Amino acid sequence: MPELPEVETIKNDLQDKIIGKKIISIFPLWKEIVKDIPFDAFAGQVEGQKIAAVERRAKNLIIKLSGGLSLLIHLKMTGHFLLSEDSAEVSQDGRWIKAENKNLTDDKQNQYVRIIFRLDNGQMLAMSDLRKFAYIKLVDDKELKTFLDKYGPEPFDKDFTAEKLGEILSKKKTAIKKVLMDQSQIAGIGNIYADEILWASRVHPLSLANKLPKKDVEAIYKHTKKILSESLKRRGTSTSDFRDTSGQPGTFGDFRNVYRRTDLPCPVCGGPIRRISLGGRGTHFCPTCQKETK
Ligand SMILES: [Zn+2]
Repeated sequence: MPELPEVETIKNDLQDKIIGKKIISIFPLWKEIVKDIPFDAFAGQVEGQKIAAVERRAKNLIIKLSGGLSLLIHLKMTGHFLLSEDSAEVSQDGRWIKAENKNLTDDKQNQYVRIIFRLDNGQMLAMSDLRKFAYIKLVDDKELKTFLDKYGPEPFDKDFTAEKLGEILSKKKTAIKKVLMDQSQIAGIGNIYADEILWASRVHPLSLANKLPKKDVEAIYKHTKKILSESLKRRGTSTSDFRDTSGQPGTFGDFRNVYRRTDLPCPVCGGPIRRISLGGRGTHFCPTCQKETK
């Protein structure tokens, strides 16, 4: 699932490439990607609008339109945006038939196009989503604010300090990994980065958040910022299906230490990485380097 670094990568790409462009027409290949209103009503309100801004909050992408409404987008498991640089062609079942950019036509992860926004410069902004969990909603400012208010602080906000993290954790009598992934507590961290942050911090994923000593809280704080920014520099993790807007995978997966490395040696102690299930999610850690705090 795209997490903060992946959604931020898409946001940065789109900020560079689509702001100021007008949406001429919208082609649905799977109408149900638009939630809450019928597709035709959605298209009627969005066609003709200019793209005023592109933002990210938690794992949501927000495309603000000139008329005041916004597209609120969650990429869920496998959603990603692709931008064709030319007048490309997509088949009825969402495969790229023709495009100058060969990532679009040749990479199988990009062949699940569900919706296409045609822009006034001939570009196509398409969303590919294998699993069909991603969605697009059309919202006004009030609805957007209500929706986004439920999220916890952003890891890169200046108000997100080690003290603030300590305050959040001290109120949670639950496994630290669950708290890191709880979007209402801290925004943007999912399964990949929670595992990597805890390994780098030498904290066991089952340790109770409210029992962590100050030095562990400080380590988690430091590694949250460090790992998320390193991944952002490498344009995210593509251990499964994430692609950027040019259809290219990110490379942070090559630098990960524990996530989906079950039985492989821990880069610090050489012992095998273990996998357990926590809240239904695969959790990877080193039982030697990460001791549980009860
Ligand atoms: Zn180890």
